[in-house]
Amino acid sequence: MKTLLETKNLKKYFPVTGGVFKRKIDDVKAVDGVDLKINEGECLGLVGESGCGKTTLGKTIMRLNDPTKGHIFYNVSEEIKQEIEELEKKENSKSRRLFELEEKYCLAEFEGNRLKKMREKIQMVFQDPASSLNPRMLVKSIIGEPLAVHGYEGDNRERVLDLLQEVGLGGEHLYRYPHEFSGGQRQRIAIARALAVDPEMLVLDEPTSALDVSVQAQILNLLKRLQDELGLTYLFITHDLTVADYMCDRIAVMYLGRIVEQTRMEKLFESPMHPYTDALLSSIPIPDPKARGEEITLIEGEVPSPRNPPSGCRFHPRCPYAKEKCGQKYPPLEEVDEGHYVSCWYPLEDGREGLTAKSKERPEGG
Ligand code: SF4
Repeated sequence: MKTLLETKNLKKYFPVTGGVFKRKIDDVKAVDGVDLKINEGECLGLVGESGCGKTTLGKTIMRLNDPTKGHIFYNVSEEIKQEIEELEKKENSKSRRLFELEEKYCLAEFEGNRLKKMREKIQMVFQDPASSLNPRMLVKSIIGEPLAVHGYEGDNRERVLDLLQEVGLGGEHLYRYPHEFSGGQRQRIAIARALAVDPEMLVLDEPTSALDVSVQAQILNLLKRLQDELGLTYLFITHDLTVADYMCDRIAVMYLGRIVEQTRMEKLFESPMHPYTDALLSSIPIPDPKARGEEITLIEGEVPSPRNPPSGCRFHPRCPYAKEKCGQKYPPLEEVDEGHYVSCWYPLEDGREGLTAKSKERPEGG
């Protein structure tokens, strides 16, 4: 399967300033060395607790945040990526060839028109449509704006009408303001706006979290239909594993700025290997008042600050399986089974004491 988007050692730090002169005194390491591959036509889920860096990663891929370090490759051949990697290993300072390749192929280096062109290919849908849509603009202008910005030639009104119909709205909605719509309808407008410039990929940042459960299902089904019809690729950011299970082909679990586990969706439920993933799965509620369920794996302690993350494995202060080595050295994200990547010195195995039985079962309807 062809890789459409890949990040390599992607970092996004936010400076912390202090003192009278507001000098930089520290960094918040929101995204700290993320390697991620998204295949063409798939839906890759990105899950984790609030504050783990999911949204920052999505915005950095979109270049709404400027990356601190690392590469973002969009539709770049394996040979070019390999050449860049090899040149980086060889050179202490940047060689001319490396500089040229990064300028030409790495989205993290794009500026001006080239960045604008890339934004036609990757669009984003935000969590809260109430704040992502301009309340003073009519729907016609909201959806028409990206067409104007990207120099779309043709009948703007016709295109906007087509997009509205694509997302289940119609011509009667063209001359209304966002406050005249329900939450679900507003999210449909946001999706139509994202589709306006005919993108290949959407970054969906918790697109249903602000909606009622019944409306959530409608929006998820709409996104699934659009993916099938338009051949879109999705990066689906969510904190809800049940939603991820419904939507995604593969899943990446993020903890404190790094990916700790990445695999096919069904594999994650069958045999999670990272203790953090196991605890996340065990905390999925069962919608049956009579069900006693298995005991939930509790994660002790608070999420550490991304300003001062723990040494070694970032999960080690909360991990029930932590050993001495865990606090000393960071475990790299390695392939332990076909397509199953884990960042853990002692990955969980089936039948290991402490592995929750519930984590092996997918929720009904999943
Ligand atoms: Fe736990 Fe150690 Fe694995 Fe980190 S490396 S998840 S602390 S067992």
